[in-house]
Amino acid sequence: MLNFFDLANNGLPYPLTKDILILYKQVSKQYLDKSLLESIRTLVPVKIKNEFVKAVGGNVNLMIPLTLLLKWFKQDFMKWMDKNPICLSCNLSLNHRYVKGNSWIVRGVEYHKCPKCSFTVVFPRYGEIENIAFNRIGRCTEWSFLFGAILSSLSIQTRIVHDFLDHCWNEALIEGKWIHMDSTLEYPISINNPHYYEKNWNKKYQYVLAFSNTGITDVTKKYSFDWKTILEQRKKRKNSDMSRINDCYQKI
Ligand SMILES: [Zn+2]
Repeated sequence: MLNFFDLANNGLPYPLTKDILILYKQVSKQYLDKSLLESIRTLVPVKIKNEFVKAVGGNVNLMIPLTLLLKWFKQDFMKWMDKNPICLSCNLSLNHRYVKGNSWIVRGVEYHKCPKCSFTVVFPRYGEIENIAFNRIGRCTEWSFLFGAILSSLSIQTRIVHDFLDHCWNEALIEGKWIHMDSTLEYPISINNPHYYEKNWNKKYQYVLAFSNTGITDVTKKYSFDWKTILEQRKKRKNSDMSRINDCYQKI
């Protein structure tokens, strides 16, 4: 029987909570929703879609349309939501308030209000792809959720990767291999650059996990040059039971 309370003592060095498991499972499920994918596909410029058709037909390398897609998504489509926005009229930092949502559909709402004038920014953190696509703004969570849906709508299998530090991105299945893809980064570092974060952001991973509809995969080794040390640290801990967590995930 599924016992989420067990997860609190799963021995893993990060809060792998019931909410996180449900969120990733629900997002992955949306990647299989044909009518949703159909509407998401309409967002992609025709020129890029045509390149994908050619690639699937074997006429061009898939990397060509993927490159175009990443550039369009970052430069033209999505906006980045600043963690600490400022009021442009008063040049002041906004006061921040976060109200937790009660389901994966709306995970929470951020309110940023100017202490001097009435300027307010409201930022709902959606788990529903349709709402993210409508808002076209977010941080790595929203970007990766929507970009994964766009890839799915173009018949490219995808999964979400979370480093349980402060970042998440996508992987796409290309010619049988899962390729790192991060729509928040500038091309060409946004594609097939798994060591970027460790090298440039000084990441110290413990677990990097990939979430799909069928399960959770430990992909830490792919993202670290220091796999040996990570393994040694893991051995020191007890009860780091990924299979039990995967079992819970299956039952959601
Ligand atoms: Zn103001």
